[in-house]
Amino acid sequence: MDGMLVIISGPSGSGKGTVVKRLPSQNGYALSISVTTRKPREGELHGRDYFFTTEQDFITMRNENELLEHAVYVGNYYGTPRKYVEEQIAKGKIVVLEIEVYGALQVKEKFPSAVLIFLMPPTLPELANRLRTRGTEDAVTIDARLKKTLEEIPLINRYNYLVINDLVPSAVEKINAIVEAERMRPFRCMAEIEAFTESKTSQL
Ligand code: 5GP
Repeated sequence: MDGMLVIISGPSGSGKGTVVKRLPSQNGYALSISVTTRKPREGELHGRDYFFTTEQDFITMRNENELLEHAVYVGNYYGTPRKYVEEQIAKGKIVVLEIEVYGALQVKEKFPSAVLIFLMPPTLPELANRLRTRGTEDAVTIDARLKKTLEEIPLINRYNYLVINDLVPSAVEKINAIVEAERMRPFRCMAEIEAFTESKTSQL
């Protein structure tokens, strides 16, 4: 099957990370690891959660066209390394980018067939509560992230799908179902169509 790009966005605290990590690995998902200038949180690992870098190195990567997209989010730079994405798509993988909306829209411009999924918690108070109980950010940062969420909501209609993350297993199931259906779009199945025609004619 042809490779494809799946973008998952959603407010900080919407559970994107948890949901993305639970996508069934046997289905050929490849999770892209972003570059960021944000400081690692407790428990985060360089090369697993992010490639943590300096502002100067980030700007160099951007200028050398090593990033597929990039954006500033609450005072830090974030970007997707281009090479990994291109290599994995060429191998037929489903490449998953967990990125914010402005980066997602940049990718959609370059790859119009990318599938954009917005993951949203059921309510804003629930989101605020998740962010506060997570305890990874101070009050000022939480406030800035909630404001950012309100900025992102009007852009949801640029996405292909909206998934409400009330329960993680159900959100994982819905995203996997979307991807499975998207994989069956004829324009993504050129190899299968060609194989069918070839086998048929040789048997005639
Ligand atoms: P966090 O600091 O909570 O890990 O991420 C903050 C926001 O940046 C989240 O919305 C996350 O999806 C987004 N993000 C993470 N990596 C990238 C990236 O490579 N590009 C863009 N545009 N956003 C990213």
